[in-house]
Amino acid sequence: MKIVNQKLSKTLASETVTFTATPNKGDEMVPDSIIIHFTAGRSAESSVAWFKDPEAKASAHIVIDREGKITQMVEFNRKAWHAGVSRWADRSGFNNFSIGIELDNPGRLTKVNDRFYSWFGKEYPKEVVVEAKHKHEKSISFWHNFTEKQIDSCFRICKLLMETYSIKDILGHDDIAPFRKNDPGPAFPMESFRAKLFGRQDDTADIYKITENNTNLRTGAGTTFESIAKLPLNTEVEFVKSKSGWFYVYVLKTPAASGEPLYGWVSGSLLKKLK
Ligand SMILES: [Zn+2]
Repeated sequence: MKIVNQKLSKTLASETVTFTATPNKGDEMVPDSIIIHFTAGRSAESSVAWFKDPEAKASAHIVIDREGKITQMVEFNRKAWHAGVSRWADRSGFNNFSIGIELDNPGRLTKVNDRFYSWFGKEYPKEVVVEAKHKHEKSISFWHNFTEKQIDSCFRICKLLMETYSIKDILGHDDIAPFRKNDPGPAFPMESFRAKLFGRQDDTADIYKITENNTNLRTGAGTTFESIAKLPLNTEVEFVKSKSGWFYVYVLKTPAASGEPLYGWVSGSLLKKLK
């Protein structure tokens, strides 16, 4: 594949890349982030049909089916309507600067007597069910897996996008809208996916700075948790993980006299990404 005039174009006979236009798109933008989703739909075809419908008021740049086949619906330099109300660190409104990639997947499954069903009543065999805890939830639940072909297509698109645009971040819809959305959820290997694309051993090398003086570093993700330290303006911290809009970070320059490694939770809204 390659990108020609803001659209994917195939370079190998084995690739399936088609463009299906949708009226559900905004004006021009410069993409600097990628948001990964699942469709929560019945099939890639039904999701593409939905994203074409003006009633849907929703769309994505890319839809990938379970065979890894790719449908592009919006040029990469135009806004698609995939993110909704969204925030990550000091940035909000991700439709304005992000590319949305949707993977065909029904999402969370319900277990009834050892059988697994999607929200629309379809049954799935045990072999395609992932049992895992969503990072924003307390207990284990059931999710439809993503296929290798799907993840591979997604990876190749992200790599191309990173070569073409100045992409700073790849995030899940559940990262930027943690109270509304649970996609792509725990069945998507987000950490290793990001690590491979950004050429890192792990995904912990994102550096943020504190944007407000005396920001509380807390023992948990919320203002009810105890404050461990007050971080001065511009303190640099390393991102470890996020939960419901809060970031668990490692403080790179310890402000206190103690030289102990300092870890804790900071409200994501008080952080700005450095690299
Ligand atoms: Zn989504």
